[in-house]
Amino acid sequence: MENCIFCKIASGQIPSDKVYEDDRILCFKDLHPQAPIHLLVISKKHFAKLTDIDSSNSADIAYIFEKIPVIAKKVGLDKGFRVIANCGEDAGQTVFHVHFHILGGKKFSESF
Ligand code: AMP
Ligand code: ZN
Repeated sequence: MENCIFCKIASGQIPSDKVYEDDRILCFKDLHPQAPIHLLVISKKHFAKLTDIDSSNSADIAYIFEKIPVIAKKVGLDKGFRVIANCGEDAGQTVFHVHFHILGGKKFSESF
């Protein structure tokens, strides 16, 4: 997708601090970390919002969740972590390429 910053990161046009990559997904460090460990996981396919996910592409999202435990183990998040996905304006989504935040390295409170 043209002009999508995360597509450009996925293709290597824009550099990122990569933590995990395979042929389907990429995980890299968030530029503005909100926790000691703050990673983003994306599919290399462009989906703008979680509301674009349906039976034709849900396997790509399932694959991300198959790999999140692998990534968490790789970066040492053995005491737990939080996964967040912002969808749309009210949630504060700023990059319109579906991504999952992995946050960890501290104890979180219940509140948001
Ligand atoms: P969201 O608010 O859920 O859309 O989150 C977008 C996230 O992408 C934010 O946490 C940004 O800090 C992060 N971000 C934006 N541009 C980059 C980049 N070039 N490399 C790494 N993280 C980025
Ligand atoms: Zn994209």
